Amino acid sequence: MIADFTAKFVQKFISSPGRCCLCQESDSYGLLCAACDSLLMANNAACVRCAVPMQLNVARTHAEPLSAASGVAGYLAGSDPAPELIHSGEVPDSSGHGNLVCTACIKNPPSYRSAIVPYIYGFPVDFIIHELKYSSRLEFGRMAGHLLAREILRLWPTLKEDIDCVVPVPLSLSRLRERGYNQAFEICRWLSSQTGLPVETRLVSRTGHAESQTRLMRQVRWQNLEQAFQVSGKAEGLRLLLLDDVMSTGATLESLASALTAAGAASVDVCALARTPPPVPPVPIMVEESALSL
Ligand SMILES: [Zn+2]
Ligand SMILES: [Zn+2]
Repeated sequence: MIADFTAKFVQKFISSPGRCCLCQESDSYGLLCAACDSLLMANNAACVRCAVPMQLNVARTHAEPLSAASGVAGYLAGSDPAPELIHSGEVPDSSGHGNLVCTACIKNPPSYRSAIVPYIYGFPVDFIIHELKYSSRLEFGRMAGHLLAREILRLWPTLKEDIDCVVPVPLSLSRLRERGYNQAFEICRWLSSQTGLPVETRLVSRTGHAESQTRLMRQVRWQNLEQAFQVSGKAEGLRLLLLDDVMSTGATLESLASALTAAGAASVDVCALARTPPPVPPVPIMVEESALSL
């Protein structure tokens, strides 16, 4: 009886369309209220190729203006504790979202052209992703999709002209059966509704193991991901944006991008809601646009 009442109460509470999806206290159409939005940690000091955070940022909202040049200078001089290294529109490049590249990408460029990952994986994004992935709370997919769309459109205003379709990272069939839905697709469909980009789910499938990535060591992950994807649709000539919920080592997106590039995709860019910071943030390098082998 009590369990019944609790379940009904929770259902009513979480499905309330007008409240903030996180704190439930403010009127925000089921998305994030301004107070919760301000808790998001922006991934401002990101490598344009792999989105690795080159410095752990303090919480900063999208609304605050950033200065790329002064941020770089401050960071390199070691005087700025929270450098503002990258921002759209201020540092022009081919996709409009900056030109900072990490040393790893200079030495060994990824198969994808660029990565947009607007937030650092920490509260509240970790909670949002956890609830979406492990508690079947699909309303968090809506919120994540809205947040990602907002940031991508801000950083890449010509997205719709530059990309043909969005491809959510597929789950293996066994994992899909177990979870009942693909969290990347749940984010993707809302990103699609906000950007107008079509979602493509039949292009590629996952053929790899079903063991949870989070349980595997970093090095083992790379080995397991080899040939984990099979392109079954026609990728030739398509300009693709791959979407995952969280980008950790980048191995999953690299493997998928590599498979799609080999299948003839015209360009592959990647995006995710949040990036896991490395134990030691790499030193950024400012490169000329012409030096980027996009
Ligand atoms: Zn809130
Ligand atoms: Zn990089």
